[in-house]
Amino acid sequence: MSELTDLARKLLPRLGLLVDHAEATRLNDAIERLLREHDNGADVDARLERLLDSVPEVRRFIAGSLAGPQAPDKTPYEPLAGDGAGSSLQRYECPYGPHSTWFRSSLSQEVPLCAEHQIPLRLVPGR
Ligand SMILES: [Zn+2]
Repeated sequence: MSELTDLARKLLPRLGLLVDHAEATRLNDAIERLLREHDNGADVDARLERLLDSVPEVRRFIAGSLAGPQAPDKTPYEPLAGDGAGSSLQRYECPYGPHSTWFRSSLSQEVPLCAEHQIPLRLVPGR
């Protein structure tokens, strides 16, 4: 019933995408060993957490999984790295609420309609 072991299982097939091959192999072995112990009734959470926490790429993946795509205060969109401080994506929302959010990165993009209400999204004033 551990959330961490569930995460670790979800993480296994993605390791190759997150870290290089040697690191993926090392982590895969270590995680599988802990999961086996877990299946045998051992409490592996602390060790698993330390292991996953030691790799920045994995830590980011887990933070993302825990937040989930629907987390209220996080947008599913992250400005591209290297965009710099001057980047100003304009954020649009449905007038009926933030159930529909869209970012305009260029003036040539047309503002889409809210899929639910079929009305144009509205510009949200920047912070
Ligand atoms: Zn709407």
